[in-house]
Amino acid sequence: MRLDGTVALVTGASSGIGAAASVSLARQGAAVAVVARRRERLDELAARIRGDGGDVLVIEADITQEAQAVEAVERTASELGRIDTLVNNAGVMLLGPAAGAPMTEWQRMVEINVLGLLYCAHAALPYLLKAAGAGPRHVADMVNVSSVAGRVPRSGSSVYNLTKHGVGAFSEALRQEVGQKHVRISLVEPGAVETELAGHNRPEVLETIRARFGGIERMQPEDIADAITYIVTRPRHVAVNELLIRPTEQE
Ligand code: NDP
Repeated sequence: MRLDGTVALVTGASSGIGAAASVSLARQGAAVAVVARRRERLDELAARIRGDGGDVLVIEADITQEAQAVEAVERTASELGRIDTLVNNAGVMLLGPAAGAPMTEWQRMVEINVLGLLYCAHAALPYLLKAAGAGPRHVADMVNVSSVAGRVPRSGSSVYNLTKHGVGAFSEALRQEVGQKHVRISLVEPGAVETELAGHNRPEVLETIRARFGGIERMQPEDIADAITYIVTRPRHVAVNELLIRPTEQE
């Protein structure tokens, strides 16, 4: 199924997986609201999508602020007319041993990976339910981007594990609630993807990450965008609940 006539909102669209997913969904015909804090990056992305013939709405927002997350959803619905697809992708990964870790890093992960996602999910659900009842496809999608870290806890990523396991649990419970109303809730769990994500870590942690993944061919954001696009283009009776995607060489 193509996405012509539908509207998608992608959080964390200013780089990495979110930017690639926005391009991919727009190519399938969706009008895409691109949400993040870095306005210039969003404007560049919007120019690229428009250059492809796509329809895009730039929304500068910090989704850890509930009012901004809600406004991003409301603007998408009012300016683009509806919401058929929500891609909850914005996130941070701050790794390292728990003992002595800066509390601010834990707070940032909970605020973005959990609370930011919840603010967007809560605000968008009524629109997704409406789109599933009366949209061009009579089905709507929420795609939550978790991680291999949402399946497999590892020493050195305890709080990231906590946030992504939470995303997985929330997604499965919500799936059971809204599936019969034709809102599909899907979970995407990537392994190592070449993006800006690791770059927010402290230098000593970055070294550990480089040592672990430096020798393998990581995935590209487009690989995960493909998975997201696959999920939301399934026929109405098919729900892809979960996709775990690792680079071939990743343990
Ligand atoms: P990037 O760092 O490239 O992208 C993260 C995005 O999140 C950016 O667009 C950033 O935009 C946005 N973001 C961060 N904080 C906020 C905020 N407060 N409000 C709005 N947007 C915010 O990393 P990835 O593309 O790799 O990450 C995307 C998702 O994929 C994350 O959830 C991550 O956990 C997950 N993931 C990534 C993996 C990888 O190896 N790269 C592996 C497994 C999962 P801005 O700074 O402009 O606000």
